[in-house]
Order: sequence, then C-alpha cells, then structure tokens
Amino acid sequence: MEIEFGIEDLAKYPFLREAGDYVKELDLSIEDLIQEDYRPAIEKAKKRVLEAIQKNFISSEISEADLEILSFPLALMLVKAIGIDYFMYRYSLAESLRAERLLEREKEPIIFHIFKSAFNVEAISIEHSVFDFKVNIVEYLKRATNFHKPEWKLINRVVEKGFVYLKTHELVRLIREEIRKMIYGRMKSLSLPKMPDKLKEVMVEISNALPPMSSKELQSVTPGNFPPCVTHVLDLLQKGKNVPHYGRFLLTSYLIGIGKSVDDVIGIYPKSPDFSERLTRYQVEHIAGMRGGRRRYKVPSCRTVITHSLCFKDKVLCAKIKSPLQFGREPIAPKRKATRSRKP
Ligand code: SF4
Repeated sequence: MEIEFGIEDLAKYPFLREAGDYVKELDLSIEDLIQEDYRPAIEKAKKRVLEAIQKNFISSEISEADLEILSFPLALMLVKAIGIDYFMYRYSLAESLRAERLLEREKEPIIFHIFKSAFNVEAISIEHSVFDFKVNIVEYLKRATNFHKPEWKLINRVVEKGFVYLKTHELVRLIREEIRKMIYGRMKSLSLPKMPDKLKEVMVEISNALPPMSSKELQSVTPGNFPPCVTHVLDLLQKGKNVPHYGRFLLTSYLIGIGKSVDDVIGIYPKSPDFSERLTRYQVEHIAGMRGGRRRYKVPSCRTVITHSLCFKDKVLCAKIKSPLQFGREPIAPKRKATRSRKP
C-alpha cells in the first residue's frame, strides 16, 4: 500500500526519512536559518529541547507544520552542540515518547507505512477483532524480549499462524525504543557546522536552564565540547606541536576535574612519537592527587589561563564564566575526599 505523507504527517514524525528529504529540498544553509524569517523555527527548537530535558516531554501540538519540521534538525544540532551524552539520551527518549503518543491515535495506513519504511515491519491491520494489528512472530520477539512485564511474554499473547495479535498501543510500544535509538544515532553522527553567534546564544540560554550536572554526567562531556582553551592544547598535541607545560597541566586538570579517570585522560592524550605512557601516567596521577602529597590540583581559573596566554575565549559561550569547568554550563563540583588543593 503506497501512501503519500502530507506536511502535517511529516511534522508529527520529523525523524522519518521523508521529513529529512523535505528539509533537504528547502536547501537552507545555517546562515539562512538564523535570518529573522526562521526565528520561530529556532524558538520552537529551543522549546523542544527544554521541554525534553526538563520535563521528559515534548508537546505534540502543531501550529505551523513547516516550522515544526525544521525545528527538529535544529533541536538535534543544539543538543549535540551542548555535548553531554546524558542529555542526548534524554532528548531522544522524549522525542520517542512524543512519537508514541501520536502513533497511538494515528490512522492505520500511516502506521503501516511508518512501520514498513522505517523499521521493515509489516503491521497488518485486522478488522472485527479486539486487536488492531498482527505482526510476524519473529519481528515481535526481536523487540518484546527486551520487555520484562509478563504481558509481553509470548505465552501470554494471542498467536496464530505465525502472527502475534496486538492492540495499537502495544504495537507502537514495540518500536518506541527503535525510534529513540534512531534519533540518538542521528545526533551522534551529526557533524556540527560552525555555529553562528545567534545559535550560540540559544545554546547558552538552554545550558543555563538545564538541571545541574552530576559528576557522572560531567564525565560524558566529549572532546568536541571542551572549552576553547582546552581544545587548543589538544589540537597542538594532535598536530605534534610544542605545548607549554602549563597547557598540559590545564588539559589534565580539566579532564580530571570533569571526572575522567586516569586511564581516560591518558587515552585522550594523542599518541605522538615522543609520547611516553609511563611519564604521562606519572604526571596525570600526580595532578589527580594519587602521588606525592596526595593533593589534587584545581583546574586553573580563566584569569590564570589568560595570564599564560592560553585563553581563546569564545565571546558568546565563555561570556559569563570564570573557570573552564563552567564552560557549557554551571557544573556541580565533583565530590572530593577531604584533601586540600594547592596551586601547581
Ligand atoms: S574564557 Fe575561560 S574557558 Fe573560555 S577559553 Fe578562556 S580560559 Fe578557557
């Protein structure tokens, strides 16, 4: 059964390939998107992200379908740019819950088409039954084995001639996790364009509204989201250039400060020909307070980094921070043992 999606359908399910094709056909650059005409799409994207991360909910109300479709890739970009894996997970979960709510009241041909084209599952609608659909038993088992409630066990299902019978909400629940993974995977593989200042301002607004990060969430900050000073040191190391001692100290104390383990830190150091794991480990353990006086060194303040000519301030993202640790958002200081810190 071939079906043509309308723009309203694409706005409901913006993660579908068809919605991506619609956006591609608009052929908009990032510079186009920051023009006043698209401001509502950016506002909508911001609302999407904030609702998702703060309330685990994204409204399914659609006022202007074309803006709604555009707001989805913009939201993916903003969440990816924040760079915290935990928030990428939360965002993709909220999007999948939104899709689940919409699919539960969707027309059968649309459900059939989405299941077929996005997940390669034939959801055959049935009439005159307490059930709404049947799916192949193999497809059912592939997904239902991840659920632990007894009602998902095959023994508790109606099965006939190789098909499992389901109500609409059960069918939709079967693929919710796949929708989440699809959205999460898309964010992970997204290569971010150079962000114009207008979008950076939105990122800062979002970052300021996010719940405080625990030390575990801090650990999921990825190299693409380190502050410019730390990124600069990492770049120099990757290019095999000379890095001042203080630059290495900044990099290591920052990584330890966001909760990376000694092994993680050593893993982040590029393996240049003169890289010595033994020496690097010694230095990292020293900064982490595992050697000598067993005092962990603090991440230097932005003011100190400036005095060492290692600050490469981003005028929007670094605007209100006093420490590289605050880059991206105000973190919760990781819990420490009762040890005193000292300056290097
Ligand atoms: S302002 Fe602070 S965080 Fe930003 S680049 Fe300079 S030292 Fe690093």
